[in-house]
This record gives sequence, C-alpha cells and structure tokens, in this order.
Amino acid sequence: MPASAASQLVDPRGATGRLLAHYDAHARPLPWRSPPGSPPPHPYLVWLSEVMLQQTTVASVEPRFHRFVARWPTLQSLAEAPEEQIFAEWAGLGYYARARNLIACARQVAERGGFPTHEAELRKLPGLGAYTAAAIAAIAFGRRAVVIDTNVARVIARLHALDRPLAALGPDIRRLADSLTPDDRPGDFAQAMMDLGATLCRPRSPGCAACPLSADCRAFARGEPQRFPAPAPKRAPRQRFGTAWWIERAGSVWLVRRPKHGLLGGMAALPGTEWGEQGPPGGSGPVIRHAFTHFALDLRVATASEPVGEGWWQPVARLGEAGLPTLYMKAAEAILAGRIRDAA
Ligand code: SF4
Repeated sequence: MPASAASQLVDPRGATGRLLAHYDAHARPLPWRSPPGSPPPHPYLVWLSEVMLQQTTVASVEPRFHRFVARWPTLQSLAEAPEEQIFAEWAGLGYYARARNLIACARQVAERGGFPTHEAELRKLPGLGAYTAAAIAAIAFGRRAVVIDTNVARVIARLHALDRPLAALGPDIRRLADSLTPDDRPGDFAQAMMDLGATLCRPRSPGCAACPLSADCRAFARGEPQRFPAPAPKRAPRQRFGTAWWIERAGSVWLVRRPKHGLLGGMAALPGTEWGEQGPPGGSGPVIRHAFTHFALDLRVATASEPVGEGWWQPVARLGEAGLPTLYMKAAEAILAGRIRDAA
C-alpha cells in the first residue's frame, strides 16, 4: 500500500503501537466486529452498524442490529425488502432520514454488485458522510483512511491540549489524526481510537491511569484533562407546537404515513397539523413533549371522529406492529394511560 507523506508503519513503542497493543487486549466485542488482527467483517455488517450508530448509542444499537441481520442477513435481501417493513424495523432508532438513506444505499450497492472499496467512492453513496465512508474503507477494506467521530476528535484534542470547542477545531483535528494513522492495521487503529474515546477518554471523567496514550497526552500532563476540548456554547432549543388526532373506531385507530421527505419521512403516524412556532396548541387532550435534534415539540393529542387523509385502521391492541416512531408511541401511550386512569 503506498504511504502518504503523513503516514507511518506501526512502531510498537510509539503511541500508535501502544494503542494497538491495548486494543488487542481490550477491544470491545461487538457483533459487527472481527477480533483484533483477524480478517475484516463483511462490508454489509460494517456499513449497517455504522449507519445505525450515527447519533445512537452502542447499547441501543446492539439488539436492533441483531434483529436487522436476522431478518435481512445480506445486502441483497435488504435491498429487496419492502420499504414499510424496513421503516417498521427502524422505528424507535430515531433520525429517520437515516432509514431512507439506508434503503437507497442498499439498492444502489446491490445494483452495482457490491460496495466500492475506496473512501472517495463510498462517499458518493446515499447517507455516507466523511466519517462513515472512512470507517468502512478502513474497517471493511483495510484502506488507510482518517476516521474521525466525536470520540476520536476528543482524544486528539486532549492529546494536543486543544482548548477550543470541537466545532472550531476541524482542520487541526484532521491533520493531527492523519499524522497518527498508520498504513498497516488501519481498521483496528480506527476502532482502537473509537474504543479509547468511548471507554477511557470519556467526556467528564477520563480514565487516564489505564490509558495507553497517557505518556503522549498534553491534557493529562496539565492535570485537568476533562477541560479539553472547551465545551460547545449552549444554544436554547427552538420550540414548536402541533396537534395530533386520535381517531378511534371499534378498537382500531386511524394512522397515516408521513410524506416521504422531511422529518420522520415515510413513517407511520397519527394524522395532525403542521408543527409551527405559534403555540401552545389549544383544545383538550394530553400534551406530550419530544426533543428532536434542532427543536423541542409540544404535541397536543386530541380526539376526533372522522378519518383524515389517506391511511388505515390499525387495531389498538397491535399498535406496536405499526412501526410508529417514538413521538407517536408516546402520544398513543398518553391517550391509553388517560383511559386507564379514567376507568380506575
Ligand atoms: S491520558 Fe487521559 S485525557 Fe489523555 S488520551 Fe488518555 S484518557 Fe484521554
């Protein structure tokens, strides 16, 4: 493999070598991984896990990953699956644009006969940003790629005692991460950095005593590693308001499918109003509060009698099978809990 100017082979006594030795002994056994030093996992598993892990924790992803792979064990089977089934299986993982991109990407890759093996080509696939493309290139295909997620960025910022917020450090972090990335074992190196950030170099209380990089770490040398990088300035979340309608007949509730594009696109939903900044909504019925990435929503759940829009009657007893995202499951639970209270 050609070496870039910044790249290096692993020196077992250097920081990269010590990090890999630590990874060999302490790698997290995750269902989408191969043990350190062994042949890489199938690209389908790496891609699926990386898409699921975008903004969702490892603990939440693990059981969902098992279910996904049991249901669609190959990329081809996922590419051929009906969208509604995939959306239903995704329900609760949040950030539904990812599910839309997952479907588009699976179909595109199946059509071209497999994943491309280079970062630049991977980057052109739906839903694959710089991080995910680099992670797949390194982990699934053994390509040297600079893999930077939030955990890795925090480790790099601390190693160099960079004291600005991460958002202001992008080019510095990339340059410094590049200088640390080896030519050999790039996939293990990427996962070792991710593990270090997730398990030892935690945001609040880093476990420096057990860290293989403590001798190289300027933040550790300064005595208060948790001060690096500086926290991001806080912004108050925007507030939106809306109303959803609970329309029930003979033990079934009227559900609709949200428009394909936009928030929760293509997901099953209760019918309702647009979400605007004017509020709070009038009328009666419980109000549930839900936090999206860029705003908080207060959604009143009001009862109505006539079906609205195109939809279907879903038996209330089988609501869990409808693939409702968390927001609407909360709305349904608020209505059903009120009913139990009224009956008591
Ligand atoms: S020594 Fe501490 S702060 Fe530095 S990289 Fe290791 S865990 Fe992070």
